[in-house]
Amino acid sequence: MKKIKDYPLEELKEELKSLGEKPFRAEQIYRWLYEEKVKSFDEMTNLSLSLREKLKQEYTMSNFNIIQKQESADGTKKYLFDVLDGNAIETVLMEYHHGKTICVSSQIGCKMGCKFCASTGIAFVRSLSAGEIVEQILAVEQDTGSRISNIVFMGIGEPLDNYDNVIKAIHILNHPKGLNIGARHISISTSGLVPKIYDLAKEKIPCTLSISLHATSNEKRSNMMPVNNVYPIEELIKACKDYIASTNRRISFEYALAKDNNDNLEDAKELVKLLKGMLCHVNLIPINKIEDGKFTKSTNENIMKFRDYLNDHGIVATIRRELGSDIDAACGQLRRKSLKK
Ligand code: SAH
Repeated sequence: MKKIKDYPLEELKEELKSLGEKPFRAEQIYRWLYEEKVKSFDEMTNLSLSLREKLKQEYTMSNFNIIQKQESADGTKKYLFDVLDGNAIETVLMEYHHGKTICVSSQIGCKMGCKFCASTGIAFVRSLSAGEIVEQILAVEQDTGSRISNIVFMGIGEPLDNYDNVIKAIHILNHPKGLNIGARHISISTSGLVPKIYDLAKEKIPCTLSISLHATSNEKRSNMMPVNNVYPIEELIKACKDYIASTNRRISFEYALAKDNNDNLEDAKELVKLLKGMLCHVNLIPINKIEDGKFTKSTNENIMKFRDYLNDHGIVATIRRELGSDIDAACGQLRRKSLKK
């Protein structure tokens, strides 16, 4: 059955027209879904009974059930949601001084195979629909009774490998009649699917693009991220420059520091050369060691030296605060996918 939360407003208007209804009904439905946050068609009391019945026959609300909720000592919450088809996904809620940030999953499993990421240990099952992405935010808002101000596509999956649904979800999240979350408060993180970076530049959505760079030579990067064999660093940086030129938006480069791998000052020097003159920011992530992973965290001393080198050489760099690592909710630690076991 179709899912009512899968539709950006304009598409929902078309759906209603095809049911023989006036398009303004779509706006009424949007208000119930995203302002009132109701869980059933029966609660949409300004729609006629017959329309409610029609909607029930055509669409599901597909509300997620919470299977498990864990809370970290630092306040980070990790949710395991039942996505209603025998699969489960993880969503993380983090508290920052500037508001609540949700880290959403875009797929069940991931195809990218990054060597340092726990999501690599699970097989790819399928992409999430737009509504299933939006539902992660709705379900957390309902559970906590609070409003989410920022969204990062940094959970399980490669968002640009689920391009159309991610873009639709952003339209729903961003729309003033949807969840009304400013595009500037939404970040998409990618392992570097170059053709999709060119596509994203044309969307005219002022969200933040984060690039998981992690290394400055093709040899090192391919060793960490197989996607680099398909889209090597030169092509990735060229796409990033195009993105900056056409959107005038600053790119955030993510660089996970692994001991004796990519964390010495030679690497920092190469990174400065690579990014010099680009409108960008570097986010340094102390790598989280995963089970069987061959990459381990750099020392704090090295991490700070690396950051200082970048800052002293004209590249703005910050170290990402580690949140939720005690409940396996930190970067690269998400891995649950299946209820069947
Ligand atoms: N597929 C997307 C989004 C998911 S990963 C991407 O690759 O960007 C979100 C971020 O966490 C990425 O920058 C990823 O490289 C990083 N990450 C993955 N595993 C990690 C680990 N073990 N330690 C630190 N960061 C990690």
